[in-house]
Amino acid sequence: MHIAAIIVAAGRGTRAGGKLPKQWQSLRGRPVLAHTLAALQPHVTTNVVVVHPDDSALWDQSGLLADIVVQGGATRDASVRAGLEALANHAPELVLIHDAARPLVSARIITDVIAALASNPCAAPALPVTDALWTGTADQVTGTQDRAGLFRAQTPQGFHFAKILQAHRSLPGPFADDVAVARAAGLDVAIVTGAEDNLKITGPDDLARAARLMESTMDIRMGNGYDVHRFGPGDHVWLCGVKVPHARSLQGHSDADVGMHAITDAIYGALGKGDIGQHFPPSDPQWRGAESQIFLKHAANLAVENGFAISNMDCTLVCEHPKIGPHQSAMKAALAAITDVDEDRISVKATTSERLGFTGREEGIASLATVTLVKA
Ligand code: MG
Repeated sequence: MHIAAIIVAAGRGTRAGGKLPKQWQSLRGRPVLAHTLAALQPHVTTNVVVVHPDDSALWDQSGLLADIVVQGGATRDASVRAGLEALANHAPELVLIHDAARPLVSARIITDVIAALASNPCAAPALPVTDALWTGTADQVTGTQDRAGLFRAQTPQGFHFAKILQAHRSLPGPFADDVAVARAAGLDVAIVTGAEDNLKITGPDDLARAARLMESTMDIRMGNGYDVHRFGPGDHVWLCGVKVPHARSLQGHSDADVGMHAITDAIYGALGKGDIGQHFPPSDPQWRGAESQIFLKHAANLAVENGFAISNMDCTLVCEHPKIGPHQSAMKAALAAITDVDEDRISVKATTSERLGFTGREEGIASLATVTLVKA
């Protein structure tokens, strides 16, 4: 089914404080609008963002992508109408009209609205009013108001596209929202259950609350890796992607890059997806002498495929020789190039083991790694 979304981002609201309209303010390092777009994207075929004419440069600089970008009008009605007209040639069956300032809308609400449209021309999320309601002046209660049958309206408000387009074309407004337009056109609107977390960012407190809610739902994974390779004859070792001259070489099925193997295993570990030996069995001759960056690249891609970004990686090499210090920055650069992670999120460090044990006797090199993944 062709489902479109119109994200209304043309408001001037600056009650949230700061110089920028609320949809452009930063929420965990990205504009509020970026989170809103990301929430809708998986559920729709075509998305339209309605941007205020004064915000064209903000949009261009944001790097955000939308199928259609249109300029908003002087009122909310006019902005939504512009979005609907931009979709007219695409003729979607359903359209979801959503406030850019509600970045925390859940997949559950979106799918419930879409499901309700199977048997209703319009459907929108709302929550019953539970607080007592008063009438009052600035500082005095003047009366009480029955809250029975009252709801707090949310978005996305969903419609059969042709019907809401026709309603907007025939009714000039002004209207509080698109449900009001639909009802004025004689359409029935079903209520689906909204959510407290689907808050509309209006004031500075809302931005802080949205950030807290996102933090509490963040999916963070951590993994560790450990690897050892023994020394044998040779004149260099590969460590974290860098060829380091040495009186001996590390032995192994691949290029024996012990540092990169530990990091690779840490990523697999964080994902709960096995280890390097499972993905690249030593018994398989095709990995003989393989460059270890094949393994690391595979693990990093697997993280991305599963919706994770590598937040940081930290690797410790345990050896008496070679000295790692002179090669540290080259190693970080090599790992950054392979994994597409910023160098300032990568650490390579080294320690001796005080001449104790197999690393102390220089029989081999050990490596430990820790990696953090964050759901993007
Ligand atoms: Mg290994």
